[in-house]
Amino acid sequence: MAEPSQPNPIPHNHGRIETRAIHAGQVANPENGALMTPVYFNSTYQQDAPGVPRLGYEYSRTTNPTRTALELNLASLESGAWGLCFASGLAAIATLLQRLRPGDRVVAGNDLYGGTHRLFLKCFAHFGLEFEFVDTSDPAAVERALAKRTAYLYLETPTNPLLKLADIAACAKLAKAKGARCVVDNTFATPYLQRPLELGADVVIHSLTKYLGGHSDVVGGALIGNDLKLREELAFHQNAVGAQFGPMDAFLVLRGIKTLHVRMERHSSNAMAVARHLEASDLVQRVVYPGLASHPQAALAKSQMSMGGGMLSFELVGGVDAGVAFSSATRVFTLAESLGGVESLVEVPPIMTHAAIPAETRRAAGLSDGLVRLSVGIEHVDDLIEDVERGLAAAKKVSGAAARR
Ligand SMILES: *Cc1c(COP(=O)(O)O)cnc(C)c1O
Repeated sequence: MAEPSQPNPIPHNHGRIETRAIHAGQVANPENGALMTPVYFNSTYQQDAPGVPRLGYEYSRTTNPTRTALELNLASLESGAWGLCFASGLAAIATLLQRLRPGDRVVAGNDLYGGTHRLFLKCFAHFGLEFEFVDTSDPAAVERALAKRTAYLYLETPTNPLLKLADIAACAKLAKAKGARCVVDNTFATPYLQRPLELGADVVIHSLTKYLGGHSDVVGGALIGNDLKLREELAFHQNAVGAQFGPMDAFLVLRGIKTLHVRMERHSSNAMAVARHLEASDLVQRVVYPGLASHPQAALAKSQMSMGGGMLSFELVGGVDAGVAFSSATRVFTLAESLGGVESLVEVPPIMTHAAIPAETRRAAGLSDGLVRLSVGIEHVDDLIEDVERGLAAAKKVSGAAARR
């Protein structure tokens, strides 16, 4: 089978990011003028002669026109030369690991998305890949870890749920000096707020399930980069292993991305208002939000992110009981895992998303029992603030009871 090719240059790849979000990679149908990219429910393609597929389309595990439109769009938004879409964020990360060989090393952040941590240690370590976890918010720790030959420096910034940042430009420089590829999971920030490839990273990862899809109705993932040889290797593995993305899902993400900039603006301004409100409460020990001046890396946030985004965490004085009370009392913030949709969600990391981490390890990493994580949606800000008040009132009752006990 011929290797999948991607049309180059990216069509409609001009203008600012808001314009490219709507147009890049998407061409009106030349026959009937239909503006939106159709959902090509299609597995095979007519060939012009034996072994001569038209425009490289041969079989939809390899490439599909709806998926290609999304891949070109994502490449444009992240300032990359190519994009590849997968069945999920984890399928994208797995494909990135599949091109490594036994003995290859990955240096990664020590508070990764739980599924990524599980993928590394439970699915790939036994094939002989080595993983070392360091505090990637500390460039000196990253430099020490890179002393040994490393294939990937794997960053998440901001992290989940403590929203720690890694200095992408500094880390990418350290990786380059050691011949390692710098990989950045940009799911939390999105290309509207932060573009790692422009800061020197080699590969960007997305869980399309979150802000890019944006409506909690699709699961998907993507890899984006500039190195064409790397793209060929990844596309080979994608086709050989088969973790590709379906056309209906690609259509949904394309549609979601058209409003990415508008949503991220509102996610960020709502989260900022909620963060400020929480910071003023004496039931709250601390609020972690990259947009706040109190964030320990506020200067870095300002330099590599254009806004704070929609995710924030805060610590209630009453421990897990207070977190449970808060999250059970809210009516606009729905109790649920995941993030990045237009609707606001609340979760209690120590007993939900991060429950699998032993309590000691969790506390040592700064993930306290009273931690609550919010995915702030784009509802009216006053409704969100009123809802936070409702949660705090419930938490206060529990904290008071705990103090009296
Ligand atoms: C959700 C998520 C993933 C995994 O993506 P899926 O689409 O759920 O497979 C990876 N990284 C981050 C930061 C995430 O939030």
